[in-house]
Amino acid sequence: MVGAGIIGLTSAFRLARAGHSVLLFDPHPAQGATWAAAGMLAPSAEVAPGEESNYALQKSAVIKWHELADELSLMTGRRLCIHETGTLLVGLDASDRRMTDQFVDVARDFGVDSLDVTRDRLPDLFSAISPRISSGTLLSGDGWIDPDEAVSILSQALDALGVRIITEKVLRITSDRTSVSATTCDNSYSGVAGILATGSAALPGGAVISGQHTVRPVHGVTLRVQGVDRSALPIVRAFVRGHNFYMVSRPGGYCVLGATQEERAEPGIQVGELARMLRDALDIVPELETATVLESRFGLRPASQDLRPFFEVLANDGWAWSSGHYRHGVTLAPLAAQWALDFVEAPA
Ligand SMILES: Cc1cc2nc3c(=O)[nH]c(=O)nc-3n(C[C@H](O)[C@H](O)[C@H](O)COP(=O)(O)OP(=O)(O)OC[C@H]3O[C@@H](n4cnc5c(N)ncnc54)[C@H](O)[C@@H]3O)c2cc1C
Repeated sequence: MVGAGIIGLTSAFRLARAGHSVLLFDPHPAQGATWAAAGMLAPSAEVAPGEESNYALQKSAVIKWHELADELSLMTGRRLCIHETGTLLVGLDASDRRMTDQFVDVARDFGVDSLDVTRDRLPDLFSAISPRISSGTLLSGDGWIDPDEAVSILSQALDALGVRIITEKVLRITSDRTSVSATTCDNSYSGVAGILATGSAALPGGAVISGQHTVRPVHGVTLRVQGVDRSALPIVRAFVRGHNFYMVSRPGGYCVLGATQEERAEPGIQVGELARMLRDALDIVPELETATVLESRFGLRPASQDLRPFFEVLANDGWAWSSGHYRHGVTLAPLAAQWALDFVEAPA
C-alpha cells in the first residue's frame, strides 16, 4: 500500500483484517489532505447538481463507518466517536438565502430529509449564530468524526495486525506476472499486489495509467480555534456572500472552520484566503470574535475530472490506483478500503 492517508490506512486495515500481510509506505503518514480535513461525514450537506451518485456513495460510506468503528473498537478498545449531529444550513443575506433555497431543492430531489426552521421557534438551534440570521434548514443524515482520532485508532489497529509502516517515498513501481515491487531510495520490496493511495501526488515512476482517470490537486485550508461550543448542535453550513462556510464544533469549544477551495497546488496558506474565511466566519458566528486561534492546516484534495472517486486497475500487472476522493475522502474511506480488498482477492 503506497500512501498512508485516510484511504491508505483504511485500505491497509481492511486487507490486514482479512489476513493479508501488508506493507504501508509513506514518508509523512497522514500529513496530506487527511491532516487538513474537518472530518465531516456529511452526504446531505455535500449534494451538488448532477452528483446524485456521489450522494448515494457517501450515504453508503457513512453506514460502513459505523461498522468500521465497531471493528476498531473490538480490536483496540478505543471507540471512534461518530457524532450524528445533522447540519443546519443558513444564508447571510437575501442572495445567500436564495442559494440555500436552491441547494435545498437539489437535496430534496435527492431524497435528503430536511426541515425548515426559524429562530423564533427553536432559539437554541441558532445558539452562537448571528442575530441577522432568523431561519435555516436542518439536513439529516450528517455527522462528523475527528480525523486525527481516526488516524490514531487505525494506526494502533495496524500495529496490532502486524502492518509494517515504511517511512520512505516509493519512487518506482514494477511488476511481472507473479509479483509486484516498489522501490524506495534505499530498498526494493516485493509482494503479490500493490495499491497506490497517493492522494493528489504524482504517481511513482513506472505506473502506467489508462488515461481514463486523472487527479488534480485542489487546495484547501481549515482553521482550528478554541472558544465556541455548539458540539451538541448540528454542524453549521452557510452561504456567505456566495462563499461556502462551515463550522464543526467539538466538545470543549474546539471548532474547525472551513474551508477554502482553490485550483492550485502550492503548499502553504495565503493571508488573503485566511482573511476571507475569517470574515465569513465572523459574519455567521460573531462569538468567534474572542475565540483563540490554535492552528491552521492546509491540504490538497485529489479531484478527478468528474469529481467521483475511482479505483483503477493499472496496466502494470497486480497494481491499482485508488484516488479522486476530492472533498469526501474521509467519508468515502471505508468504501475505498472494500474496493482494495475486492481487488486483492479477485480471482486471477
Ligand atoms: C481543507 C480540507 C477539508 C476537508 N474536509 C473533509 C471533510 O470534512 N470530510 C471528508 O470526507 N473529506 C474532507 N476533505 C477531503 C479529504 O481530506 C481527502 O479526500 C482525503 O484526505 C484523501 O485521502 P488520501 O489518503 O487519498 O490522500 P492524502 O491524505 O493526501 O494521503 C496521501 C498520502 O500519500 C503519500 N504519498 C504520496 N506519494 C507517495 C509516494 N510516492 N510514496 C509513498 N507515499 C506517498 C502522501 O505522503 C500522503 O500521506 C477535506 C480536504 C481538505 C483539503
